[in-house]
Amino acid sequence: MIKTWELDPNFKEEIMNERGGEHLTACFQCSTCTLGCPIIDYVPSYNPRKIIQMSLLGMRKEVLSNPDLWVCLICQTCTARCPQDVRISDLLGAIRRIADKEAEAGNIKIDSSRPIFDKAFQHQLAKYGRLYDMGLAKEYYPKREGSFFKGMMAMMNDYKDFGMRMFKKGKMGPKAMFPEKVKDLAVMKKIFEEMGEK
Ligand code: SF4
Ligand code: SF4
Repeated sequence: MIKTWELDPNFKEEIMNERGGEHLTACFQCSTCTLGCPIIDYVPSYNPRKIIQMSLLGMRKEVLSNPDLWVCLICQTCTARCPQDVRISDLLGAIRRIADKEAEAGNIKIDSSRPIFDKAFQHQLAKYGRLYDMGLAKEYYPKREGSFFKGMMAMMNDYKDFGMRMFKKGKMGPKAMFPEKVKDLAVMKKIFEEMGEK
């Protein structure tokens, strides 16, 4: 049930002021984004149109603490099909950044490990200019599990399923133990600055 006194009328402006959120009010709720989204088969509750509708209504707390906000693959299918050029994955990214800040301030709890993964991923790019899988795993798992030991156990459990495939592709094994850097890391620094990321 929607409680009108809990709605935040400024929420849509807050989103539109974030990079990627500018086209929010163009949405006319046609559902094309949701119908073509490949994630729905795996996460039936996921509905980008509904997230947009709730955002337009000002349901700030419900939107920001919704774990489904973090399941988007950024495949851009919805963006290509949206008749209103809403750029849904960018929009979801803008909402996620607001959620991230609120979680850091202790105002909401995010029931998803995706923010930890995203940050670990970004750290690898900032440091090496490319993805370093071992670095990503070493940062992600302990943070997700809350301790180094538990993280390593969880990592081994996950990697036993697809580790051999990664090994064959050179993503794991002795050569992959050490990161390779791109030549011009200054470019990466500039991109991160431009994006407003640390
Ligand atoms: S496809 Fe575009 S206009 Fe239609 S519901 Fe999704 S975001 Fe809104
Ligand atoms: S970008 Fe995200 S919301 Fe859009 S179709 Fe792909 S997974 Fe679904």
